[in-house]
Amino acid sequence: MKEITIYVPDDYENQVISVISGITLVARKNSGSNWFILKEPCNRCGECCKQFDSFPFQCDEKGWCPYLEEFGDGTYECKLGAYRPLGCCCDNVKRIPKFCSVRYEEINRC
Ligand code: SF4
Ligand code: SF4
Repeated sequence: MKEITIYVPDDYENQVISVISGITLVARKNSGSNWFILKEPCNRCGECCKQFDSFPFQCDEKGWCPYLEEFGDGTYECKLGAYRPLGCCCDNVKRIPKFCSVRYEEINRC
């Protein structure tokens, strides 16, 4: 784990702070909580893009997000790349626990 220092304006001290590398949420801090650091990355199963509530895009005929790209080896990618919505990077609620490999570790640091 690499330590970096982030300076934020005083008004943001108690706001949610998300640190994104590329399209990956690598660290997050909720108001008043410790930091959570990415421990296990996405395995690109695509499940969170197959079972979503159609917001912000309309689902295709399979019920998948139209920007989900399927590869032959069972992995998926978002066609929007770096332009995918922030919510797709940060919204843990959308992840499907049965499939999702993404894990965060809480560290004793606020
Ligand atoms: S925009 Fe990309 S990341 Fe978001 S649901 Fe669609 S395929 Fe998934
Ligand atoms: S469910 Fe989890 S592991 Fe699968 S694509 Fe979505 S974030 Fe990645």
